[in-house]
Amino acid sequence: MSSLNNLTDKLKSAQTPFYYYDLQLLQATLEACRTAAQPYGFHVHYALKANFNARVLQLIRDAGFGADCVSGNEVSKAIEVGFDPSKVVFAGVGKADKEINEALDFDIFCFNVESVQELEVINSLAAAKGKRARVALRINPNVDAHTHHNITTGLAENKFGINQWELADCAEVLTKAGNLWLEGIHFHVGSQITDMNVFKSLCVKVNEIKTWFEERGFNLNVLNVGGGLGVDYYHPDENAIPDFAAYFAIFDRYLDRRAGQEVHFELGRALVAQCGTLISKVLYVKKGIKKNFLVLDAGMTELMRPALYQAYHKIERLEGEAGSQVLKYDVVGPICESTDCFGKEVELADSERGDIIAIRTAGAYGEVMASRYNLREAIRSVYSD
Ligand SMILES: *Cc1c(COP(=O)(O)O)cnc(C)c1O
Repeated sequence: MSSLNNLTDKLKSAQTPFYYYDLQLLQATLEACRTAAQPYGFHVHYALKANFNARVLQLIRDAGFGADCVSGNEVSKAIEVGFDPSKVVFAGVGKADKEINEALDFDIFCFNVESVQELEVINSLAAAKGKRARVALRINPNVDAHTHHNITTGLAENKFGINQWELADCAEVLTKAGNLWLEGIHFHVGSQITDMNVFKSLCVKVNEIKTWFEERGFNLNVLNVGGGLGVDYYHPDENAIPDFAAYFAIFDRYLDRRAGQEVHFELGRALVAQCGTLISKVLYVKKGIKKNFLVLDAGMTELMRPALYQAYHKIERLEGEAGSQVLKYDVVGPICESTDCFGKEVELADSERGDIIAIRTAGAYGEVMASRYNLREAIRSVYSD
């Protein structure tokens, strides 16, 4: 935060709200991830949906990461920004024909396929183009991510992925389909996972399913274990960079892979969350009987995570003139919704109109979820350089 505190005077005169990106921290995070993955030869694709800000994407591309996309527009964006199509994967439970066709035209590395029906659709669209589509089956591992129920994706009867009892059907379609090539298997258990045992359980599952395929003569080139590594929302300064070494070590230790078999990761949040801060100004201070409210000029239209998943973000008041007495505030936005609240009973130094409030760890699933609800201004961003 010190770098932000030094900027307080500048920020005070800037038009708020906006996202502030610390590009040095982003670069350090990318470097840490790359260095930790390298000894094992692991490949990392960045999940674009976490943040597709142009400057952020450029740095990630320059660091050599691939791109994990969940829409046709993300696929085109990744390629437009300069990600190599041979490092682009396309997941998503509802890929439209148009999106599949475009991805086939780009010759992307792989479709992560989420149902038996989708396999058939991709096969026929590829046939029409005289192409062979590389696919990986996104299999529902039925592993509990121990994370918020709105961001868990790997339990049975989830809309995501193929269930294990459907694998025989998939194998049959793949054997007959002349325009598909099974590249590997794909898993994604959820997001903001901080318990490393979850990844250990995932490895056990991947080994089991990999064996199932190999016993049936499918030679898998790729084991894609998805993303989900969490970040420390409570201590953004002390823990600015996730422990990538510990994360990759789990997969190295518990995943059985034969020589030449590639392991792919799809990290989003862990790479970009800590480099982003939502900067806003206090518009009004309301002192009630039991509660004090700080009304900010930023709301759920700029950062939806608290309203959407009751997510915690550390809230700080940047140095200002107000007194040092600490009070408890409900920090709210201006939007006409009761869920438009960034935090309840947040302890902050006595605040007044015009103070700058920083909402930390907002680089992932922040700017990308901004909306124009209430006809709000489009969100802006400012960079540390
Ligand atoms: C969202 C998503 C990711 C990235 O998740 P993070 O928690 O941000 O790492 C990876 N893979 C798939 C398929 C996703 O949908």
